[in-house]
Amino acid sequence: MSLSELEKERDKLMEKRDRLEEKCDMLPQCEKDDGCETCKVYDQITQIDEKIEEIENKIETLRAEKEDEE
Ligand SMILES: [Zn+2]
Repeated sequence: MSLSELEKERDKLMEKRDRLEEKCDMLPQCEKDDGCETCKVYDQITQIDEKIEEIENKIETLRAEKEDEE
């Protein structure tokens, strides 16, 4: 995957994450301090976070490779 494709993919995930976060905020159980520990939406957010991190690592690697070429 190219750098711009990866960036697009990351932005898409971040948008999705924002929407989930909004949803999570509105759940009654999440008003409690530890409410999100059992919240399914939060679980999804965590999974997306992991994916975003993976993509960002790839982006970093690609950027570093590019800089080497220049
Ligand atoms: Zn929650």
